[in-house]
Amino acid sequence: MEEGLIIKGYGGFYFVRSGKETWRCRGRGRLRRDGSLLVGDRVLFTKIDSKEGLIEAILPRKNSIQRPPVANVDQMILVVSLAQPEPDLKLLNRTLVLGEMEKLEILICFNKVDLVAREKAESLEEIYRKAGYRTLLTSALEKIGVTELYRSLAAERRISVLAGPSGAGKSTLLNTIDPGLSLATGEISPKLKRGRHTTRYVQLLPIGNGYVADTPGFSNLELPSIKRTELAHYFPEIREYAGKCRFLDCLHIDEPDCEVKNALKRGIISNIRYQDYQRFLGEIIDKERMY
Ligand code: GDP
Ligand code: ZN
Repeated sequence: MEEGLIIKGYGGFYFVRSGKETWRCRGRGRLRRDGSLLVGDRVLFTKIDSKEGLIEAILPRKNSIQRPPVANVDQMILVVSLAQPEPDLKLLNRTLVLGEMEKLEILICFNKVDLVAREKAESLEEIYRKAGYRTLLTSALEKIGVTELYRSLAAERRISVLAGPSGAGKSTLLNTIDPGLSLATGEISPKLKRGRHTTRYVQLLPIGNGYVADTPGFSNLELPSIKRTELAHYFPEIREYAGKCRFLDCLHIDEPDCEVKNALKRGIISNIRYQDYQRFLGEIIDKERMY
């Protein structure tokens, strides 16, 4: 048997890549059941001939996400445009919580740096770098930061999913990195000022030695049910101070001797991030009341 990676599922077939070649496979036995195999699964398969094969087993999954349906995701690349459309930091902070919950490596890509003053771009980047995230300033148009982005995608066996609002430049960035991908980009219509959605089913595209999903992720931004005391774990900079508060169950709102509030006062934790922590905490508490 050979080991391979499912890069596409379509019409009951799974396309399994091994080396530089792809086999069109069906699942054997219970693996034939709908939903038992996912794009991103590493599988053992037997070759029937040079093009067709049979999947015999799935190797253990590290994780799986629902949107898009992909297994073994290593990295989320969050693309935010600095202008056109304006950056939506609430959305960014929310998506970051979801990425943290899935234990993904996260890279934040501030795109369209060609459209804004350098200082504006850098001050925004700094907030997130200080919070503990890897960040990049990019321009698909002027090819700024794209080599770094390529390196991050191309690492051996790494599977990445791009996330971020429509029109942020996700497809354009991928096309700039590898023109062979020729992904459809949504030209912003002057009237609507937003991009169009173009992809139908998920597929992993090879970039260097890694793979990227061709469908953006994390469009459902409902925070899953978590306990109020857990939320701080999903803000890396709050997590860092949360363990030092006087109370173990401190929510970092108005408790005495709260090290998170101290860090906020000293400017170590940014207001923009803390305000969204408070907002999400409010949402979680409201939800708890409903049950
Ligand atoms: P997606 O919805 O995130 O995939 O966004 P697209 O890749 O479709 O890009 C939306 C629009 O933004 C297109 O008109 C692109 O030409 C434009 N765009 C993408 N990247 C940049 C950039 O770095 N600078 C500028 N000025 N425009 C960009
Ligand atoms: Zn506290």
